[in-house]
Parts: sequence; structure tokens; C-alpha cells
Amino acid sequence: MRAILVERTGGPEVLRWVEVEDPTPGPGEVLVELAAAGLNFIDTYHRTGLYPVELPFVPGMEGAGVVEAVGAEVSTFRPGDRVAWPLHLGSYAEKVVVPATDLVPVPDEVDLETAAAVLLQGMTAHYLVHDTYPLSDGERCLVHAAAGGVGLALVQMAKRLGAEVFATAGGPEKVALAEEAGADHVIDYRARDFAEAIGEIAGPKPLHVVYDGVGAATFDASLELLRPRGMMVTFGNASGPVDPVPPLRLSQLGSLYLTRPTLGDYIATREELEGRARDLFSWIADGSLTVRIGERLPLPEAAHAHELLEARRTTGKVLLIPPGR
Ligand code: NDP
Repeated sequence: MRAILVERTGGPEVLRWVEVEDPTPGPGEVLVELAAAGLNFIDTYHRTGLYPVELPFVPGMEGAGVVEAVGAEVSTFRPGDRVAWPLHLGSYAEKVVVPATDLVPVPDEVDLETAAAVLLQGMTAHYLVHDTYPLSDGERCLVHAAAGGVGLALVQMAKRLGAEVFATAGGPEKVALAEEAGADHVIDYRARDFAEAIGEIAGPKPLHVVYDGVGAATFDASLELLRPRGMMVTFGNASGPVDPVPPLRLSQLGSLYLTRPTLGDYIATREELEGRARDLFSWIADGSLTVRIGERLPLPEAAHAHELLEARRTTGKVLLIPPGR
């Protein structure tokens, strides 16, 4: 079969479409023929080495497809089943071996491309608003990069919980998408200082929580916008990792809470994985969650997809489609 292989860390050019050995499922594993792989920012961190992975490796954490074969001791899935997964390295390949415990079944009402598009970013938004800082009706939150994959899901889920949503997005097209998703106040942070704009709308220190996947570029100004005992949720590094913060700074700004969560810890049990998947799929089926697929690119063009993502030229989800589909 063919797959994208990374033999050395670096720029998008290290993503090469090559022939590799056909995988076989071992005990507890399932062999899936890929329908679509989801592109996520974490794929760029693996590629550059910011999050180290042993070389060589096939990148990609997320995908969906049809079960081709199962290994010994697998009783939960059968050949022909439609499945998806949010967090298993090796997804940029025509066939992927995934532990059965990392897979969820895809219900009939949801197509495989949507399933590949929603799980990682949708589950992230889901745990951020329900578990990291559980939002309540009328609370004020800020979502950065609100037209991105996680961002669009976060805005919709925060609105569902009754929050007043402040959002940032880069450029007029992205601002319009964040507004369409339901954000109450959207600031084009490439055109103006977002902290100043939020202060003009809501006064000083108005926010209960900031959900920040942008990192270095937005962290400091975001801290200043939190009300006393508010929570800073820094969950990504799209603009680079955040510098260390002395605990005393949190005290000086009003007994703030700071957390750096990661999806794996919020889907660590089958119950959590299945519960979040169930919510996402049912909200898609009843129309209360919209998944925007901004781009569908051939899997062999993964390098181009990474370039677009890192150049801030994507909206919503980017899918990578294997040849012949
Ligand atoms: P997005 O679709 O949101 O794409 C990233 C967006 O970040 C860009 O489109 C851009 O939007 C914004 N951005 C701001 N500055 C930069 C920059 N210097 N370079 C590139 N992009 C920039 O990606 P994802 O939805 O996949 O991920 C969003 C963030 O969430 C990432 O940091 C990711 O690592 C993190 N994440 C964390 C998880 C966790 O559990 N901790 C799980 C999933 C994702 P704009 O043009 O509007 O500024």
C-alpha cells in the first residue's frame, strides 16, 4: 500500500508519498481501509519535531473508513463496519491498523468524510466547554482562531450552553464564518488589537474563560482579559508555544487558573470516548452541529495541505482523501 512517510523532521517537504509494507492487524487490532484522514495542527508538530515521534513514521492522528479485517480477540468490530478514530498515529495511509479500543462505530446518518472531519477537533471542543472549564448560561468566553477546525466547533458548543461568545479570526472571510457559527462578537485580530476591542465592548477584565489554541501570539493579552478567578485554557501552539509563566503572575492578575489540557486525557476511558462521539454524531444528525469541510485534498498532497494550514489559509476542516475515492 502507499502512505505518507516522514523520515526526518522538517518543513512540509519531508512528507513523502511512498510504497510501504501492507499492515496486518495483531491481537486487539483492526485493519481499516481509509476513506478520509483528518488534517490537524498536531500533525505539523509531529512533522517539525515540536512533539517528538520516533522516526520514520506515518503521520496523521484521525481518520475514518471501512473495516477490512480484525485481529485475534476483537469482538466489537467486523469486516464491513464503518468506523472512525480521533487519536491514532499513522492515519495518512491507504490502510491503517488501529487498536479496537481507539475506534468508534459511525452511525448510518453520518457519512465517513464527516466522521473523519469531526472527531479530533469536535471532541476537543467538547471537553474544553464541558470539562476543562464547564461553561454556564450567561458566562463570557473568548475563542481564538474561531474559524478554524476546533474554533468553529467551540463557538457552536459554547452557544449551545448559553455563553456569550467573544471570538477572534484572521480576515473578513473568517470573521463571517465565526459569526455564522453563532459568535456574538467577532474581532479581526489581524486588523486590530483584540484586547482593546473586547475592552470597548465589555469593559475591563470581562471574561470567565479564554480558550486559546493560538498560543504565543495571544496568550499574554488574553490573561489580562480574565476576571478574578477566571480560567486561562491554553490548548495549542498554532503561533508557537507559550513561554513559562511564574505562578505569582496568576495571583497578581486576580487568582487566575491556568491549565494546558490535551485530548488524550479527556478520552482516556471507553466511556468518555464513546460519550463524546455519541454527542457529536447525534448533534450532526439533528442539525445542531455543523461541520465545515473547507478543503478536500488528495492524500499524496499532504505537504500542500500542511503549507495551507501553517500559512493560516484554511477554514474549518481539511480532509485528505486517498487516491481512487
Ligand atoms: P485550525 O484549523 O484552527 O488552524 C489554525 C489556525 O490558527 C489558523 O487558521 C489561524 O487562524 C490561527 N493562527 C494564528 N496564528 C497562527 C500562526 N502563526 N500560524 C498558523 N496559524 C495561526 O487548527 P486546529 O483546529 O487543528 O487546531 C487549533 C489549535 O488547537 C492548534 O493549536 C492545535 O494544536 C490545538 N489543538 C489542541 C488540542 C488539545 O487537546 N490540546 C486538540 C486539537 C487541537 P486565523 O487566520 O483566524 O488566525
